Amino acid sequence: MHNPYYLHASEVFTERGIRDNHYVLVEGGVIADICPAPKPNIRIVELGEQQLLPGFLDLHIHGREGSDIMDATRESIETISSSLAKHGVVGFLGTTVTSTWENSLAAFASVGDGFHNQPQGALVLGAYNEGLFFTEDHKGAHDEQYFLALTKENIDAIIEASKGSLKVMALAPELPDSDEIIRYLTAKGIKVMLGHTNATHQQTCNALDAGACGGVHVFNGMRGIHHRDPGCAGAVLLDEQAYCEVIADGVHLHPAILQLIYRLKDPQKIGLISDCIVAGGLNDGSYRLGMLDVTVKNGVARTNSGSLAGSTLTLDKAVDNLVKLADIPVLEAVHMASLAPAKFLGVDNSLGSISIGKRACFAIVNRKFQVQTTIIDGKVVFGNLV
Ligand SMILES: [Zn+2]
Repeated sequence: MHNPYYLHASEVFTERGIRDNHYVLVEGGVIADICPAPKPNIRIVELGEQQLLPGFLDLHIHGREGSDIMDATRESIETISSSLAKHGVVGFLGTTVTSTWENSLAAFASVGDGFHNQPQGALVLGAYNEGLFFTEDHKGAHDEQYFLALTKENIDAIIEASKGSLKVMALAPELPDSDEIIRYLTAKGIKVMLGHTNATHQQTCNALDAGACGGVHVFNGMRGIHHRDPGCAGAVLLDEQAYCEVIADGVHLHPAILQLIYRLKDPQKIGLISDCIVAGGLNDGSYRLGMLDVTVKNGVARTNSGSLAGSTLTLDKAVDNLVKLADIPVLEAVHMASLAPAKFLGVDNSLGSISIGKRACFAIVNRKFQVQTTIIDGKVVFGNLV
């Protein structure tokens, strides 16, 4: 695949709209052209009725197929990377969960290794710390006995352990000194997301003013909207700049809430995440998430106390759910799994959409919206091209 080739699809989901019966020229791993007619003497790969989509970016994922970021091993990074590629994901943030300090630092180190020495499937775009700096009321699947003080020393230790790969830090803004820490992280180019928090509306607004970027899996793990107390959820939904992570599995958020988020937010501030755990791609049963036992039944993961514990979702399914459950236009739904996260992470100059000059990263789906082929930098990493 070193030579240039065209992908010819009945529908090409470009950044500017869905183009019928178009050709996408891949040259040197980059999208070199998008056109209605090909130039001669260049190989054409016929995709027939399949749709050519931008590759998905899953910025909040803990594990898949028996592997967990907290395993802190190369093998687990590789398993997660190849498993994600089966679902059209071309890049991800290796996301931690609350654990011992030692285990947490080891996990950041292994994500850092993956970041600097990429696996074969979905790219490791960096590390996401979801853990350690939360409060108890909305702890979800985070074991509070391992919660730590939000200090510069702890933050610096994580940044160092991650070998420069830390991109996102989740925290509860009601913790002491949070606004100062948010400014500290933001100055270092690390995005702060607010979650597993009982913060009031005002505390959340203060954190957003200090530089926090938005809400972790909005409505889940935070104080919801009450008419006299609009909470963290109310604040991140109404702040135009705030980015909202959404788990569109049909369980974490009612379809009416998916619609509500869509009506309130700029679609480019809505980022689909899987929040998938080790059980993703496996059967129902008993698993671990960080330090806690979880049970997966009908694909839904819960702790022993009944709290939702991540998901077994994939982004291809999440996009399809948004279209079917919440009536969201398919191109917008696709871009919530690609362009929106790329913009959030600041990698939209090279990833996140089908646009000339960007890296040739695609998800090719059939008419049932099942991923048939995944391409990264012009190379097939899942499925095949005939
Ligand atoms: Zn969470």
